[in-house]
Amino acid sequence: MKESPDWTGYEVGPIRPPSEANSLLLRITRNCPWNKCTFCGLYKGERFSTRSVDDVKRDIDQIKTWTDYFRLSDEIDGMPEHAPSSEGGWAPQIAEHWHHSGMRSIFLQDANSLVIKPERMIEILKYLRECFPGTERITSYARSHTIAGISNEHLADISAAGLNRIHIGLESACDKVLELVKKGVDKQTHIDAGRKIKKAGIELSEYYMPGIGGREFSECNALETADALNRINPDFIRIRTLGLPDGIPLVEDYENGTFTRTNDVEMIEELLLMIKNLDGITSFLKNDHILNMLPELKGRFPEDKPQMIAVMEKFLNLSEEDQMIFRVGRRTGRLVLLESLEDEDKKNAVQGVIEQHGINQSNVYEICDNLMKRFI
Ligand code: SF4
Repeated sequence: MKESPDWTGYEVGPIRPPSEANSLLLRITRNCPWNKCTFCGLYKGERFSTRSVDDVKRDIDQIKTWTDYFRLSDEIDGMPEHAPSSEGGWAPQIAEHWHHSGMRSIFLQDANSLVIKPERMIEILKYLRECFPGTERITSYARSHTIAGISNEHLADISAAGLNRIHIGLESACDKVLELVKKGVDKQTHIDAGRKIKKAGIELSEYYMPGIGGREFSECNALETADALNRINPDFIRIRTLGLPDGIPLVEDYENGTFTRTNDVEMIEELLLMIKNLDGITSFLKNDHILNMLPELKGRFPEDKPQMIAVMEKFLNLSEEDQMIFRVGRRTGRLVLLESLEDEDKKNAVQGVIEQHGINQSNVYEICDNLMKRFI
């Protein structure tokens, strides 16, 4: 693996999960070591590299210095006489945000930080815990394929050193879909990796992507994913609706007709089928991504399953006209929850947008699709 060049200041990667909005973002690696998924444009054209443990520790030292400074400011209710000298980068801004957010969680960036040698990860985690003993949670993204290559002993050591949550981009457990989108992993590896993480005592989030199988594999995507999740029983199931930014390989597949996309309504139908088939689990389902349609769809299995099914059926039972109003309202930020449709003022405002832009049943899909691109 390529080692990072000399430290040039605190670094921040491009993304974090929605649940990490208040976390310290600490970059361990840059970009994605796989970078082949056809639905993902995030790191395309960017070279993967690791950062040295010394560079990461230097970032941590910067945050420690600045958070100590902000804490002292709070204690004396003013600015201390001497501000730390910043060595460049984003440390002061990042530290200030984290300080004001309570310094409870840390997110390790970028796409698959578990790919570094376990000994290096353990050294970083121990240093973080030493500098910030009050931190409740340290989280990382990881690929199932990478987790499968880590021994149970190493994963247990990583857990003991302080990594207590992993987000896996499962996306689908339909082998045909995984192959088509070049995810580089199969259903069984997803299951093995998920179970391994839980066995190590690390909290597990699995991301499911409705729509990624297109129309052809929508049913397989729902049923195989539900089956895999039933076998894993992750702590969290997170929904991340497929969105297609320009320039990614899956758009080419769509344009040349080898990928047939599901619209918002079909994606809810797929999600309903998936959720109906979740059984014997105790996971908490979250639907908090901005691209998702029904943010009120959330809850714990098994007790909240009927209520989650009811939310999706409520949407699917709306008239085509009301479905269109909700889709446009959600994508323009004017409506959030289904119950907002009962608010006549809000509903009229969306109808105004529909009239103004000539939106109808034949172009609503294309228009909503373009609106979604703002959030990808
Ligand atoms: S592994 Fe994740 S970050 Fe990497 S290309 Fe696939 S979806 Fe994108």
